[in-house]
Amino acid sequence: MDSLSLTRSDLHRQKAYIDGAWVEGSTRIAVLNPATHEQIGTIPNLGALETETAVAAAERAQVAWKCELAKERGRILRRWSQLMLDNAGDLAAILTQEQGKPLSEAKGEVAYAASFLEWFAEEARRIDGEILAPHQADKRLYVHKVPVGVVAAITPWNFPLAMITRKAGPALAAGCTMVLKPSELTPYSALALAVLAEEAGVPNGVFNVVTGDAAPIGDVLTDDTRVRKFTFTGSTAVGKMLAARCMDTVKRVSLELGGNAPFIIFDDADLDKAVEGALIAKFRNTGQTCVCANRFYVQSGIYEKFAAALAGKVKAMRFGPGIPIGEADCGPLIDTKAVEKVGAHVSDCVARGGQLLVGGRALEGAPGFFEPTVISEVSANSMLCREETFGPVAGLVRFEDEDEAIALANCSRAGLASYFFTRDYGRVHRVSEALDYGMVGVNTGIISTEVAPFGGVKESGLGREGSRHGIEDYLEIKMVCAAI
Ligand code: NAP
Repeated sequence: MDSLSLTRSDLHRQKAYIDGAWVEGSTRIAVLNPATHEQIGTIPNLGALETETAVAAAERAQVAWKCELAKERGRILRRWSQLMLDNAGDLAAILTQEQGKPLSEAKGEVAYAASFLEWFAEEARRIDGEILAPHQADKRLYVHKVPVGVVAAITPWNFPLAMITRKAGPALAAGCTMVLKPSELTPYSALALAVLAEEAGVPNGVFNVVTGDAAPIGDVLTDDTRVRKFTFTGSTAVGKMLAARCMDTVKRVSLELGGNAPFIIFDDADLDKAVEGALIAKFRNTGQTCVCANRFYVQSGIYEKFAAALAGKVKAMRFGPGIPIGEADCGPLIDTKAVEKVGAHVSDCVARGGQLLVGGRALEGAPGFFEPTVISEVSANSMLCREETFGPVAGLVRFEDEDEAIALANCSRAGLASYFFTRDYGRVHRVSEALDYGMVGVNTGIISTEVAPFGGVKESGLGREGSRHGIEDYLEIKMVCAAI
């Protein structure tokens, strides 16, 4: 990390953060740069004991935190957001070095992540209750919204800042406290956030970061009766397993899980805009976002033109390390397992008759990199259409009419993001209503904002993050029936 020459070297912490203290572990885990596979540092390998300590601290701290005026909680969150923006260059450099995305994208993530703290700083003051018309003359009925309590959060490596603030913002705004386990692949962004939380005035114990092996930490976060809410972003398989464990103590559960987004291009689409939308929806973060277009369904009348235009743009993409800035459009994949999975999807497409238009290979001598790839004449039964690829591969499937496109798009157990391009006004409404997804992008390849509810249906998750709905998952409804 020294090679990055941060303006504030204290943002690069190699200790966990529990109850306002920086904590060492008796053993350590190495953290690698995915672009070089070189070690960039280590983190404490904490376990059940330290996680229980963090939960106890969060429980103690919640007593005072929930009693703070909402305005004060909002003021602290706003300061935290501003500190992120003030230190955007350093945060982006830390993020790129551990995650791999190009530095310009990392800067975008810093701003996106800070926006959730700012948004929920404002929402803190809008947690209103209700007075109900009484059911009896001598009774009064009140409904209060109260914080759920101690929140456990587990977050993935693909957005090491934003996936945290999208949870910490509403949790802290609501008066909850948090124990976070970030991915061990990208812990330094989370720890830098903790440095800034401390500086913003977040009291000891309100925001804790426990680093280490996932399983023992996860066991405490799912089983401990003091944790009243569990919020997870990551793969569907792990999310289902952890959610099932949470049921033993009947925790509130929110899940932001995997997607497998369809991207439909109708004959009447604006070709240039569809290509531009496809590039951003597919290749942002090297194809490693949960809302990435995974399956392209292209109507036969525009198929050849779209395939040629997309292939031309992808061929011109530069891939390489995320730093220095401006030298790469695509970075490395997170690890060699990811490269193998992407390779398997490409091979399967080709074995079923797909034609490689661009790319198709992992780079020799650069273990994390896979060429940005476009494949035409992909079978609708290919692995690429059935599973999330999480890599820089666009597979194009041909279709004939609207009903067929909708049927193909909805044929998935995932239901997170979906996209389509058309200039037909009626079709905009028909197709957006017919798509069985939590989010629909119409004539755009980028849909995420703190202002709108983010989340999926079917096996893509439970609950929504961001927007005015995002705070509801951190609030309980409490009714008071008072006889007068
Ligand atoms: P993952 O393997 O499920 O890991 C996610 C988190 O769970 C990491 O912190 C991981 O820790 C932890 N974890 C893994 N096994 C665990 C266990 N047994 N107990 C407790 N924690 C455990 O997913 P990923 O590969 O990091 O992330 C990619 C997936 O996330 C994709 O499917 C993507 O679509 C999804 N995602 C969804 C959204 C959304 O908003 N819907 C957003 C981003 C990503 P370690 O990393 O330390 O092992």
